[in-house]
Amino acid sequence: MIIVLKNQTAKSDIDLFINMLQNRGLGVHVSTGVDTTIIGLVGDTSNMNEESFKAFDIVKTVMRVQEPYKMANRKFHPDNTEIKIQSPDGEITIGTDLQKNNKRNFTIMAGPCSVESEEQIISVAKEVKASGARFLRGGAFKPRTSPYAFQGMGCSGIDLLLAAKKETGLPIVTELMAIKQLELFDNIDIIQIGARNMQNFDLLKELGHCKKPILLKRGLANTAKELLMSAEYIMSSGNENVILCERGIRSFDNFTRNVLDLAVIPYLKKVSHLPVIVDPSHSTGLSWMVEPMSKAALACGADGILVEVHNCPECALCDGEQSITPNQFDKLVKSLQQYAKIENMVI
Ligand code: PEP
Ligand code: MN
Repeated sequence: MIIVLKNQTAKSDIDLFINMLQNRGLGVHVSTGVDTTIIGLVGDTSNMNEESFKAFDIVKTVMRVQEPYKMANRKFHPDNTEIKIQSPDGEITIGTDLQKNNKRNFTIMAGPCSVESEEQIISVAKEVKASGARFLRGGAFKPRTSPYAFQGMGCSGIDLLLAAKKETGLPIVTELMAIKQLELFDNIDIIQIGARNMQNFDLLKELGHCKKPILLKRGLANTAKELLMSAEYIMSSGNENVILCERGIRSFDNFTRNVLDLAVIPYLKKVSHLPVIVDPSHSTGLSWMVEPMSKAALACGADGILVEVHNCPECALCDGEQSITPNQFDKLVKSLQQYAKIENMVI
């Protein structure tokens, strides 16, 4: 249920009202807009009577939220959520609150599928940074279909990512596969939850207890609603810094590795306030498709992309076929910058 308060209600009245709701045992989520305050009631409100709230002088309207996701719902939080990350080069904002800014941010995250050596990660980090990436991606813990395939460098991969961060100033996005790995992630900037763990509910609840931004990838065969429900798990456990990531879904056709669901971008942006990032690498599996799909993602309203870049795709230990070279990445960013101008976005 959401309660919209009358414009310009005094803060002291809002605080009294929130206190009263909390005393009734309700979970309260407050969204403060430019001149309206929206109070979202979290939990089971089926026995609550809307009329009893309408009787308060400061209440403008009361509405039931039909969707099972509440905190991720735009009705709870009409303005876009911005996620702020401190980097040595200054603050980076993912997503754009259009009440406060007229230019939208388009954030590019790039790097190899997996960290393979110090030389590899540092050289890719330097190159993607010079071209305009704002984050370095790279897996240290890799979810592989085969137990015989390279499983990632583990802890030493995290150390190498941190060395690359020190060298270039690029903040890091990397995948966490199990909660016991969390202690290694203290200096990681964004925790990626991969497609295969999107519905690992115990993991999601634990992530609610940390404050780091979470890049939540859509599962291989999950609906947009299930993605939002997984975001809800993290948010309702205490961490509202969730970034949604479309990375392609399974379908009958296999000319691409997965099917990039472009329509889900405007859909998620409509029903949720969370930023949406598109992964053109895993969604297509083909390096030559990364550029057109990145442009499409930008045009569809995505808040950024997560791209695999490898200094030698043919020697990559993982996902070489979908990885672009640093030169191709440079060309990609330059062409996205042209598109960004038309869309009033900044890269
Ligand atoms: C990855 O980003 O390298 C990855 C394994 O992605 P996904 O979980 O989308 O397959
Ligand atoms: Mn990969």
